Amino acid sequence: NDIFRDGKDLSEKRDDYLEWPEDFMAVSFLSAQRSKEPNFQVGACIVNAENKIVGIGYNGMPNGCSDDLLPWNRAAKSKLDTKYPYVCHAEMNAIMNKNSADVKGCTMCVALFPCNECAKLIIQADSLKSSLLSLCFMESTSV
Ligand SMILES: [Zn+2]
Repeated sequence: NDIFRDGKDLSEKRDDYLEWPEDFMAVSFLSAQRSKEPNFQVGACIVNAENKIVGIGYNGMPNGCSDDLLPWNRAAKSKLDTKYPYVCHAEMNAIMNKNSADVKGCTMCVALFPCNECAKLIIQADSLKSSLLSLCFMESTSV
């Protein structure tokens, strides 16, 4: 029974563990891997003041709508043949999927800076309860 493995003392507490913000960003990036979006895979998670995740989302077609039938194009003659009218962004899905009554004091962790529509949703989710929904994000290298 060695107490050392790879030069580390196994009788001591680890000190190279993920900090909370890194952990939540990792959850967001993992959730993004569920996305079928060919251009940008984005994930988001909402975390409460006790560092508990209360909602997770990724970008995709609306519930019950076939992602085989709806378009994934970025450009077409008609806007209706592009993805834009249909795709629900990760932030929206994280808010809609929340398993808490509200998002008071919560933080949204998202891997891409929110668009104007999601910024409105985040503000409205906040103002419903007169609470603070702060935002943390990391710049995506896949833009
Ligand atoms: Zn958005």
